[in-house]
Amino acid sequence: MKMILGGKFVDRKSKINVINPYDNSVIDTVPSADESDVEDALSLAEEGAREMRHLPAHARTTILRKTAETIRARAEELATLLSREVGKTILEARTEVSRCINTFTLAAEGVHWVTGETVPFDAAPGSENKMGFYMRCPAGIVVAITPFNFPLNLAAHKVAPAIAAGNSVILKPASLTPLCDIQMGKILLESGLPRKAISVITGSGEKVGMRLVKDPRPRIVSFTGSVEVGQKIMLAGGLKKYIMELGSNSPVIILPDADLDLAVKKISVGGYTLAGQVCISVQRVIVHQSIRKDFTARLLESVSALTVGDPLDEKTCVGPMITEAEAKRAERLCNEALAQGAKALLPVKREGSFLYPLILDEVTPEMEVFCQEAFAPLVTISACQNLEDAIQLANMSRYGLQAGIFTSNISAALKAAKEIDAGGIMINEIPTYRLDLMPYGGMKDSGVGREGLKQAIEEMTEIKLVCINL
Ligand code: NAP
Repeated sequence: MKMILGGKFVDRKSKINVINPYDNSVIDTVPSADESDVEDALSLAEEGAREMRHLPAHARTTILRKTAETIRARAEELATLLSREVGKTILEARTEVSRCINTFTLAAEGVHWVTGETVPFDAAPGSENKMGFYMRCPAGIVVAITPFNFPLNLAAHKVAPAIAAGNSVILKPASLTPLCDIQMGKILLESGLPRKAISVITGSGEKVGMRLVKDPRPRIVSFTGSVEVGQKIMLAGGLKKYIMELGSNSPVIILPDADLDLAVKKISVGGYTLAGQVCISVQRVIVHQSIRKDFTARLLESVSALTVGDPLDEKTCVGPMITEAEAKRAERLCNEALAQGAKALLPVKREGSFLYPLILDEVTPEMEVFCQEAFAPLVTISACQNLEDAIQLANMSRYGLQAGIFTSNISAALKAAKEIDAGGIMINEIPTYRLDLMPYGGMKDSGVGREGLKQAIEEMTEIKLVCINL
């Protein structure tokens, strides 16, 4: 595929191979952008931003709606491509495509949320003769940098609100998974988006991504990815607005009065979807000592039934990890925990980029597998004595994206909601739950700012005040 620079399809001699993680075949190639391509993307985006500023709200709604409709019409083709470039199962890929349709549909409506307010200038003596209001203006150029795990919907969470707010966008997808994003760019152009308002530039994060964030022209950098890269971007990028959606090692608390069937059913999905490579994957299960044996036995039975294999096979529950190197990293993390006293309830088994589903019991806060983001098909189990103990364990993390609690006691649930430091608390639900319109983002090292269409649209506008001297 070609990359898109200001609406034009551009090829380069130097290529990046896009590999299917399931069988290591080359699915396609994309150009590796150079310095001058980044400069072109930026200067075209400047012109695109000027054009977008004058594009009426109803035209932006039409473009976003048409985009959603075209994605719906091409859903199965896009799901297959997603499955091949990420290695996610076809069922997971279909869910992502339908969420992406929803994201664009919500953004089309979100155009109507770009509003302002009057300001009571007579609140201070001397200003009685003033009247005014503020309005929300497009920020200008939004740079969107995305990770490999949800190429379509996570890019949509940046591109769609940026357009709804009247901005131009430069999207830099993960080099491992750029194909669906190029398709999304193409669909936006076919839906009538001004050509210079969109670039999908392919190339290395270190070079292309860094050069984009360092440039003074973009007003907003919206990044989803690892904490390490997020920190580098904020240090290098200087004075701009940042939306940072970073990692996590999400906890789930299970109290003795929980509906165990529900908890087990949900955790066996939330810990293993996309081979655990989800930022809000269930990682740390904190279970009350009195129900630990029962819970663990039921979870083991449920996880043992997960079928591992070809992502395009409708019956597959768990596909490969994105690369063999990633699977080896996660395998090492598990083996280190075992050496420190954790117990594997299923054998640690890796074949190439496949890591088989794992449950690690007797995991303690000293172990890396408890402290770090595992980003792999594994769930750890740690025991707690009471709710206070559980909350303390849940908060023993540099991260704070989402957390869950299973209990039938409303007071316990709300105490956890108040005291766990995370951007979202799910009650009788796993942290992996996300509805595309809800405010979404993290505390601590999990990030800065919020996505969700309303919040992202606001973040991607600037407030301009107008004061009238009567
Ligand atoms: P990553 O390695 O941080 O890469 C993310 C993006 O940043 C890629 O497009 C990458 O480009 C680019 N990049 C790398 N170095 C850069 C630099 N120096 N300057 C600018 N851009 C740079 O993350 P990943 O491995 O793709 O994704 C996994 C991580 O994403 C996990 O930590 C996960 O928790 C997090 N995540 C968070 C959320 C959330 O909503 N909070 C959602 C999904 C994933 P290249 O591909 O070319 O290197």
